[in-house]
Amino acid sequence: MAIKVDVDTHDGLKNGVPALMRLLEQEHVSGSFFVAMGPDNSGKAIRRVFRNRGFLGKMLRTRAVATYGWRTVLSGTLLPARPVALAFPDLMRELRARGFEVGVHGYDHVRWHDELDHLGESGIRAELADAFEAYRAIFGEPAQSFAAPAWRDNALSLTLLDSMGLKYHSDVRGRTPFRCAVEGRVLATLEIPTTLPTLDEVLGSRGLKDLRALVRFYLGLFRDDALNVHTIHAEIEGGPCLDVFRELVRALKARGVTFHRLDAVAQQVAALPMPVCDIVRSFVAGRAGWVAMQGSESTGAPAPEPEAA
Ligand SMILES: [Zn+2]
Repeated sequence: MAIKVDVDTHDGLKNGVPALMRLLEQEHVSGSFFVAMGPDNSGKAIRRVFRNRGFLGKMLRTRAVATYGWRTVLSGTLLPARPVALAFPDLMRELRARGFEVGVHGYDHVRWHDELDHLGESGIRAELADAFEAYRAIFGEPAQSFAAPAWRDNALSLTLLDSMGLKYHSDVRGRTPFRCAVEGRVLATLEIPTTLPTLDEVLGSRGLKDLRALVRFYLGLFRDDALNVHTIHAEIEGGPCLDVFRELVRALKARGVTFHRLDAVAQQVAALPMPVCDIVRSFVAGRAGWVAMQGSESTGAPAPEPEAA
């Protein structure tokens, strides 16, 4: 199993990451952290309430204000947006010094989530350039991995990422590591998808609130014959759901599961034959709006031109 920790907000990095770092160290479990590099505009997500009925439902079901706090819920609207990664460069470096992988989770998480398809090539290029520049400012060297905010990508973002020579990205939901077929081309960069539903999706859609029921649910989904990638959130598992996550980790360890950083997985599978798959857009229970998903296997060849009449 690979634990992927998404860090979307200022408070998630400040409070959730140290809590998760301690928990993972106590349990001798490795993990990969992906941190938003730009401003925390979480408050702007509130605008989605007016555009997307699913989002309001999710806000209520997951008790967003209780989970995130008013400072985060209003960040970037009534209150100024605070930086995420750049506010805590020492913590970022400490994470890596303690043996965790640290990668890029976009620049402005809310902008990527809400506007990806409207940013155009220059807009996406700017989001990526700013994010990777911030990473370099913190670590003094370039980032090797990227996880798309909100599991959203498009042909432009994948193509631009592909030109950066990353070890891998983890942008979509899916089944197995693969290479992406985009507009008739097979991209070089390995994609390692998230394979399990996130806890906030499960809480939001299945009504599993009891700790034991949640752990049982995940154990039921866990595959012994494949790589399992579980995305958690600094704001959720690092906050109100820390106990659930601890119990899940202990139950997996009791089952004999081993934990690996995603960059180590990328290294292990790099030489193996890799399926080539399309990327499709789909919906997952408990999450508002679309996510990018591993599609069926593709030859990577362009679709044949329709014959002239
Ligand atoms: Zn995120």
